[in-house]
This record gives sequence, C-alpha cells and structure tokens, in this order.
Amino acid sequence: MTPLAQKLANRIAQSGPIGVDTYMQACLADPEHGYYTGNARPDGGPIGRGGDFITAPETSQMFGELIGLWCADHWLTHYSGQPMRLVELGPGRGTLMADALRAIGKSIKRLDLDLVETSPKLREIQATALAGSNPNWHGELASVPAGPALIIANEFFDALPIRQFVRSQSEAVVQWRERLVDFDEASGKFTFCLGQARPQKTLTNSRFANSRHGEVFEICEPGRTIASEIGLRIAKNGGAALIIDYGYGAIPGRPATGDTFQAVVKHAYTDPLAAPGEADLTAHVDFSGLANAATQGSGKLLAWGPINQGIFLKRLGIDARAETLNRGATETEQTDIAAALDRLIGATEMGNLFKVMALCETNEGNDVPAGFAMEDKFAS
Ligand code: SAH
Repeated sequence: MTPLAQKLANRIAQSGPIGVDTYMQACLADPEHGYYTGNARPDGGPIGRGGDFITAPETSQMFGELIGLWCADHWLTHYSGQPMRLVELGPGRGTLMADALRAIGKSIKRLDLDLVETSPKLREIQATALAGSNPNWHGELASVPAGPALIIANEFFDALPIRQFVRSQSEAVVQWRERLVDFDEASGKFTFCLGQARPQKTLTNSRFANSRHGEVFEICEPGRTIASEIGLRIAKNGGAALIIDYGYGAIPGRPATGDTFQAVVKHAYTDPLAAPGEADLTAHVDFSGLANAATQGSGKLLAWGPINQGIFLKRLGIDARAETLNRGATETEQTDIAAALDRLIGATEMGNLFKVMALCETNEGNDVPAGFAMEDKFAS
C-alpha cells in the first residue's frame, strides 16, 4: 500500500466514500505524497522519456517553437509596442517555454514571464530550463500582475480533478448518482461505489437531457473556474489564451459524456485506483464546458475551436519547420524528426485526439487568430 493509500483509507473509514475529484486532488497534489507535489518520484519527475508520459513539447522542439511564433504574431498584430506578458499554466519541465522564447527571439523587445505551477520539484526544473528569462512563479493565475497577457496551457486542464455522475437505471425518474471512491478493508483495495441519487433538475447542464441510462457525465469544476478567470481577465485586460489538450468538443445531439478518468505509469495505462500518488491521473478535457465558462458574462471574448492539433500545427507551418531542421541533420536525426512530426500531427497519434482552442479579446476586431479559420469560431 502506498503511504497516500493508507491516508485515504483512514479518511474513508472515518467519514465515508470520497468524490473522484477529492481522490484525484489528493493523488496529484497531496503536499507530502501527491504525484506532482510529493516525493514519490525521486528521479527526474513524471514527464519525459524516463518518466511516465511524454507531452508534445517533450516530443520535439517544433511544438514549442510554433507556439512561440503564434504568440509573437498575436502580440505584434494587436499589442505591438507594449511589453509582452507571457503566462504558462503548468509548465512541466519548462521545455515548451524555452522553445517558444527562442522562437519569439528579438521580435519582442520586452517580455515578462509568469509561470503558474504548484509542484516545487517542477519549479526547480523550470528554473534551470528557463535560467536567463527571469520567470516569476505563482500558485494561481489570480496573482499574475494585471495587463494584457498571452496565456498558454498545454496538458494542464487534463490534470485538474473531475467529478463523475452516473445516470441511474430507474426509468421512471431520471436520476444521477455521484461516482465515489470507497475502500474495501477485506481486499485492501479501493473500489468505486455510487452516492445518493439526485434528481435530474439538480444538474442543470442541458446536455444531460440526451443521455442514456448508465451513462457517465464528467464535470471539471476547477477547470471551469480557471477558464472563467481567464475569460474575465482577457475581456478586462486584453490578451489571448491558447489551450491544448486531449479532449472533446460538443457532440451534436449527444451529451459529451463517458468515463475518461485514466491513469498512466511508465507510458502504459493502469487502474486509477491501484497506486494512489504514484500514477499520473487525468481526464479528457470538456472544451465546450471551458469555452462556455470563459465566454459567459462577457461579450468581449471570442472562443475559437476546438480544432485538431494536427490541423493547427500544419496551418502554422510545421511541415516547413521540419524540412528546415532536416537540412544539415544526420540520417538518424532525420528519422527522429520524421517520427516526431508524425507523433504531433498524425491522425492516429496526437493529431486528432489533441485539440486546440483560443480565447481572444473581441475588440481586436473579428480577426481570426493564426492557426484557425473563420468557420472555427466557437458556437455554444
Ligand atoms: N505543460 C507541460 C506539463 C504538463 S503536466 C508539458 O506540456 O510538458 C501538468 C503540469 O501542470 C505540471 O507542471 C503540474 O505540476 C501542473 N499542475 C497540475 N495541477 C496544477 C494546478 N492546480 N495549478 C498549477 N499547476 C498545476
């Protein structure tokens, strides 16, 4: 049993089963034993070849470079002459930002860099990767100084805790029961169970109406809160946000539901309840939920996408960038570049599963942000 498993088992014994969100929060962010925050991973951390999962910026420098060019293009088009404030949520090993800053280069004269990161260990790694760029670290977006800013979040929202609700089998009254995590003393294992039934009307999302019995609906409350904060900030101060993650947009006629709660250890899927604190736990991102939360209450914000990462990177010129890198590369390097390109944009790799969404201030005009087309404008 992991130390966190013991802690959670004690808690459940005292006060009963806990929500998937409470479980996920403890597993990822427990100050002593959390996956990102604790000491369960004494090696180089969870991200990268030697860790548990490889993200797009860890796959190839091309990813961060193109994000950097997107930022420079957006800033020079709309905020030229002002110092750029660049904010990253959950910067991991700092690789995306290092590549982005290199691509931005001298096109921007003054740049303030703000990193929102909860993990002390990852902050150290970021400090090394970004030495020379003078980053300021924050525990949350709210403490980043006001003013126009570009906010980047790659594989950040998938790490925020979700709640799950299961539509009950009763045909007479539609009810939703929260999926909870319990501990079975006999087997020494965590198990799922269902909480009290709640009538349909307590869950107000219109997408519930089309669901089927037994179906799972997920909601990421912290994700919506942060999206709404981003929306308010951009509407008031200006700037834009670029959110990249695996997830789903609205599925016409169907609620965006399903159980997407998953765990990964050493690049393989495992049982999310098996080793609390030692596996990366994530859920797919509900992009429509984020877009609605961000644009609600402000007519000054437009959401674009979500569109497939493959399309976005191709529109930003990833093929040309790969060709440039190929020139002067050895044969082995060329093979690596081709493999990375396929991983980032291939339809069966990250190209279709990963989505990109932009949130932009509308008084910038109806200008389409780079990488998007007019028809990609989000409609709630
Ligand atoms: N963007 C990076 C890392 C993704 S992993 C990449 O693409 O490689 C998720 C990152 O989000 C980690 O840096 C993790 O420590 C951070 N994180 C998770 N929850 C967070 C929270 N609530 N606030 C700030 N950072 C968080």
